[in-house]
Amino acid sequence: MASYRNSRGPAKLDRTQPPPPANLRASTSFKSKTSNVRRSSSGSGFKDSDESVSGRVRVAVRLRPKNAEEMVADADFADCLELQPEFKRLKLRKNNWDSDTYEFDEVLTESASQKRVYEVVAKPVVESVLDGYNGTVMAYGQTGTGKTFTLGRLGDEDTSARGIMVRAMEDILANVSWDSDSVMISYLQLYMETIQDLLNPTNDNISIVEDPKTGDVSVPAATLVDIRTHHDFMELLRLGEAHRVAANTKLNTESSRSHAILMVHIKRSVTDMESEISSENYHSLHMSRSSKPPIIRKGKLVVVDLAGSERAHKSGSEGHTLEEAKSINLSLSALGKCINALAENSPHVPVRDSKLTRLLKDSFGGTARTSLIVTVGPSPRHRAETTSTILFGQRAMKVENMLKIKEEFDYKSLCRRHETQIDKLIAENERQQKAFEDEIERATIEAQQRISEAEINYKEALEREKVKCQMDYMESIKKLEEKWMNNHLKHATNGFNNGNRGGEGNDHANEEITELKLKLQKEITLRKQAEEELQNLKNSQFHPTEAGVNADVIKLQNLLDEETRQKQKLEDEVLLLQSRLSQVTFSSGQPRNSQLDNQGNGERTSIANLHEHVGLQKILSLLESEDPNVRLHAVKVVANLAAEDTNQERIVEAGGLSSLLELLRSRSFDEVICRIAAGAIANLAMNEANQELIMAQDGISLLAMTAADAEDPQTLRMVAGAIANLCGNDKLQTRLRSEGGIKALLGMVRSRHPDVLSQVARGVANFAKCESRTFSKGNKNNRSLLIEDGALPWIVQNANNDASIIRRHIELALCHLAQHEVNAKDMVSGGALWELVRISRDCSREDIRALARRTLTSSQTFSSELRRLRVEI
Ligand code: ADP
Ligand code: MG
Repeated sequence: MASYRNSRGPAKLDRTQPPPPANLRASTSFKSKTSNVRRSSSGSGFKDSDESVSGRVRVAVRLRPKNAEEMVADADFADCLELQPEFKRLKLRKNNWDSDTYEFDEVLTESASQKRVYEVVAKPVVESVLDGYNGTVMAYGQTGTGKTFTLGRLGDEDTSARGIMVRAMEDILANVSWDSDSVMISYLQLYMETIQDLLNPTNDNISIVEDPKTGDVSVPAATLVDIRTHHDFMELLRLGEAHRVAANTKLNTESSRSHAILMVHIKRSVTDMESEISSENYHSLHMSRSSKPPIIRKGKLVVVDLAGSERAHKSGSEGHTLEEAKSINLSLSALGKCINALAENSPHVPVRDSKLTRLLKDSFGGTARTSLIVTVGPSPRHRAETTSTILFGQRAMKVENMLKIKEEFDYKSLCRRHETQIDKLIAENERQQKAFEDEIERATIEAQQRISEAEINYKEALEREKVKCQMDYMESIKKLEEKWMNNHLKHATNGFNNGNRGGEGNDHANEEITELKLKLQKEITLRKQAEEELQNLKNSQFHPTEAGVNADVIKLQNLLDEETRQKQKLEDEVLLLQSRLSQVTFSSGQPRNSQLDNQGNGERTSIANLHEHVGLQKILSLLESEDPNVRLHAVKVVANLAAEDTNQERIVEAGGLSSLLELLRSRSFDEVICRIAAGAIANLAMNEANQELIMAQDGISLLAMTAADAEDPQTLRMVAGAIANLCGNDKLQTRLRSEGGIKALLGMVRSRHPDVLSQVARGVANFAKCESRTFSKGNKNNRSLLIEDGALPWIVQNANNDASIIRRHIELALCHLAQHEVNAKDMVSGGALWELVRISRDCSREDIRALARRTLTSSQTFSSELRRLRVEI
């Protein structure tokens, strides 16, 4: 019966744990979505947790097949080992009837493939290392039992023979990202407590450094090679192996006496792993990436091909001194002691006793995941060694691990990323700045172009305007000249006809004007000549045969300018004199003198003197003289006297009014005398008493007769003025109308002269006003005599006359006529209603506007008509 030698140890532990899976997961399992680190050996007895996982050292036993020598030598002996892989048990035969049974995590028979050995022993460790833990795979056993075969075979000839190192590296390389991860290896040999760099053999005394804070162990002096491809790694393994052989030859040692240590340092970026893992969380990851430093997981895989275990027991053999033997085996025996201490949970683990245990401090037991493969041979001759090896393995199975993930924040990488980001932003900023400057420049150029375009357009428009002005100026000069010529001819004729009118002052002024006009005419002729000459010269500029032509042109131009100035001066003088002349003329013929100038004053003084010397009676008698010249001068004197209010009464008393009326009656019609006489009568007609006298002496008929015969507008103006004065008398209205006064007044509009029209309008307004007064007193209830006599059409026609004085009189007349309802019908049919509406709206005088409005609203006829027409006032 098989028995358990170590009842408290492995057997007990193993019973609580399920057997490991036959096939460990493939390496693709890393691409799982689990954010936590995945552990392949979920069924292997390791307990998982976020921060750390507990477990123990996994131990497998591998039996080497018999070699040729053993086949022969051990042919007569039974094997000392019997494997029961299905029960993960090994029986160590003590004799033919007795054996000890040991249980391991894995029992690998002599036929176990290298692939299976890797997957069972090393793969879980490799996966842990990729997840950020430290891990160790060690081979322990007697020399020649297959440690190197298991760990270090390259499999050059037979790919299936590839050992754990090669396969581990294949898995690692398949699971790292070259963008963010790194794989670095060192390859060391430990012999007689000296660490030698197998990648650089000259580096043969490497010291171990331990971080006091983290407890991490490192060999900074060792060569670290960045591995990118499997080929790189194979080359390095070959190089390391060659150096190992060479070093051992030199030292006269065997490789079996030294420990070969392969260290693989893996750095993986967690965020990259996670972005691979979870595309759904990309956005949040991206956000966190920019603000948090990336997490780097560092894993260290240590593969140790230990020196032959027999050395630990056999000292002094093969010619070595005891010290030497001790030294050779120190590390291995220290490892054994540490395993014992760990297995027994001893408070003191003598890690510091050897370089190997110091080197493996963070990789064996403790915080690392560890697999131990113990190799044994079948030969009964090495039973003791085999037993010792098996017991070593059994003890190791008791060693508890507390795995700790090795994570750290990668501030350097974060800093690099931020620098890159800043660089990008700076570049972007520069680009935007440049674009902004370009835009400003473009806008400036555009604005300048627009300004210059506008300037050109403005210049052209200005030039056109200038040319137009010049043309207009020339045109108006021409018109003025023509006008002036017409006036000149007209005045020449008038001067001839009215030779004596206006007295000496007028004659003198006329002479002066004539003289000036002649001068002006002469200047114009000269200017025209100069212009012609200039034109000729301009034409001849195209064929400049003589020198100095241009100078002549300038000279002539200056001459022309001077002539123009002279002409302007003369024109101004003409205008001045014309205005003076009109003033003189007006003062001599005005019904009522307003203001006499110096010349008029002189005349008046002389007339007053004459009046004093000769006497009024004598002067009046001269009005009846046979001599027309005497009559003319006499009537002028009387007219001048009548212009003064103070003289009027005496003139009338002396029979002057009768004499003046008599002049109008004269059969030999002399219009000049009639005009002056009418003017005098008009002045006298300002007085109410005189108005009645004029009427009594048949004045209306005489004035009507004169109006019918007269042609000169000034004669008509005087006559109309006289009748207009009479129209303002309430008592005389009927008689004035019956004697043809209204008809005479209306007859004079034929003249169309504004002076005449304004007197007619004044007469009409006076008459309407008196009528309105009479109506309001209730004295009359008939239609207006003005309407009776057919004045309405003319009134309506001139209600909006251009001359404001005429317009004003007629507006008043219309308002007065409209006061009486009896006129309304005629006014509506005659179109006067519209004029009244216009007056009520447009008249510039507020009082007339109001009067028109009042009239329109108070009259029934007008109101109903306006309602009918839907006109609002
Ligand atoms: P160790 O490194 O433990 O001293 P080796 O790995 O050098 O032993 O193996 C000794 C010899 O045994 C080698 O020739 C090797 O090829 C052979 N050998 C070891 N293990 C096996 C195995 N499992 N199958 C076939 N040959 C093996
Ligand atoms: Mg070996």
